[in-house]
Amino acid sequence: MNVVLFGPPGSGKGTQAQFIVERYGIPQISTGDMLRSAVKAKTPLGNAAKSVMDAGGLVSDDIVLGLVKERVSQEDCTSGFILDGFPRTIPQADALISLLDGIGKKIDLVISLDVDSKELINRLSGRRTCPACGKGFHIIYDKPVREGLCNNCGTLLVQRDDDSENTVINRLSVYELQTSALKSYFKDLGILYSVSGSGSISDIQSQIAAIIDAGGVGDRS
Ligand SMILES: [Zn+2]
Repeated sequence: MNVVLFGPPGSGKGTQAQFIVERYGIPQISTGDMLRSAVKAKTPLGNAAKSVMDAGGLVSDDIVLGLVKERVSQEDCTSGFILDGFPRTIPQADALISLLDGIGKKIDLVISLDVDSKELINRLSGRRTCPACGKGFHIIYDKPVREGLCNNCGTLLVQRDDDSENTVINRLSVYELQTSALKSYFKDLGILYSVSGSGSISDIQSQIAAIIDAGGVGDRS
C-alpha cells in the first residue's frame, strides 16, 4: 500500500505516520531525510543537491524525484511506503505519478489529516519549552506542575518563535496554500481520503487503519 500523508503543522501527522509504519511495516519516506543522507553519502544526486544548496538555491524537482525513485525502488518498499512532505506542488504530483508508473507502482491512497485552524492555533501557540533542558509543555494539554516553570529543572519556560501566534498563522496559511490545490488534484483521481484530526490519537488511528485496511475503498472525501 503506497500512501501519501498530508497534515498541517500541529495535526499530529508525525505520530500518525509512525503508527502506519509500525502497523503495516512499511517505511516512511521523507524527502528532507533522503536529501540529507544522499548529501552525506555523496551519491551523484546528493552531490548535485549539495552544490545547489551551497549556492543558496532550491533543490530542483528533478533531483528530489530522482531520490524518490531510488528510495522507492529499494527492497523495503516492496509492500509499500508512506510519503511525507512530498509532493508539494501539482507538477511534482504529476511527475511522481509518471515516475511510479514507470516502475510499476502507483499511489494507492492520499490521506489528509484535517484539523480546524482555530484548534491548530491553540495547540501550537500553547506550546512552551524549557530553554535549559529542552523539555516541552503545553499551557492547556500538558501543564507544568508549577505554572511557567520546568518540571525537570525549574527554569522559566519560553515560547519558541516558531510557536508564536503570528508565526503559527503564517505557517498554516502557507500549508493551506500549498495543499488545497493538491487535495483537489488527488480528489479528482478518486484517491483522497480525509480524516478528522480533531479526535484522540487512537480515534484518528482507527480511522486511518479502516481506510488502509479497506484498500482505500469506502467514504472518500
Ligand atoms: Zn528544564
